[in-house]
Amino acid sequence: MKLFRFGPAGSEKPGLIVDGVGRVDVSAFGEDYGEAFFASDGPARLARFFAEEPERCPHVAADARIGPAIARPSKIVCVGLNYRDHALETGAQIPAEPVLFMKATTAICGPYDDLVLPRGSVKTDWEVELGVVVGKTARYVSEADAPSHVAGFVLLNDYSEREFQRERGGQFTKGKSADTFAPIGPFVATADSLDASDLRLWLAVNGAACQDSRTSELIFSVPRLIAYISSFMTLLPGDLISTGTPAGVGLGRKPPSFLKAGDCVEFGIDGLGEARQQVSGSSAAW
Ligand code: ZN
Repeated sequence: MKLFRFGPAGSEKPGLIVDGVGRVDVSAFGEDYGEAFFASDGPARLARFFAEEPERCPHVAADARIGPAIARPSKIVCVGLNYRDHALETGAQIPAEPVLFMKATTAICGPYDDLVLPRGSVKTDWEVELGVVVGKTARYVSEADAPSHVAGFVLLNDYSEREFQRERGGQFTKGKSADTFAPIGPFVATADSLDASDLRLWLAVNGAACQDSRTSELIFSVPRLIAYISSFMTLLPGDLISTGTPAGVGLGRKPPSFLKAGDCVEFGIDGLGEARQQVSGSSAAW
């Protein structure tokens, strides 16, 4: 089952991608893809609704804007240095425990929206990542029990301003949280429909391949991450965990290379679709 959202930024509607039918509007179901939906077995209830009342679910216009695939979660928890080759390219040690940081939820945007460089940015970088959507409240969850807390998986890019992240007083959050730094989607694949343990993920800038790896290369697996994170904070339904990026980021290049206005970033994960950002300069409005 694939969940997506469409419509103008800030007033997206829920949609469903149905095999053999295409993209349908499920606004008539009356719920967005947020905490309450995931906490109450939303995907299964929505599937029943569509099976019983498909006539209330019109097709979505082909030119509709695709929004972030989930409603704004209570938090985005990101994992740093979770691929061996990426840790090495940044000169970091292979971590003994997962490196965690938060990304502001105001960074969320749609998978084809522009990436807007923040004011003063000189080192904006890309990070294709597998995202995990939490399906039920997780607090001190065991690794064995962790898979039952996953609602689904989603493609995302953990855009990162390396100067803000590394040269402006420390901690990752400043470099990870600018508006548009978290495109999410195009859709959430529910956990029952996709095994995410060995999927190819890739990213290209202006058509040139930069990242190309597999989720089987994760140092800390998805169940391990859920167990670990939930020992430090409560994960709520609809929360997003970004599991880390493989080698091939701009920071790891020799010499390093970063994004500039006019660049085009394309990326994808097998089974989770593809996304694309055109890079634009900082907005006068900001
Ligand atoms: Zn990342």
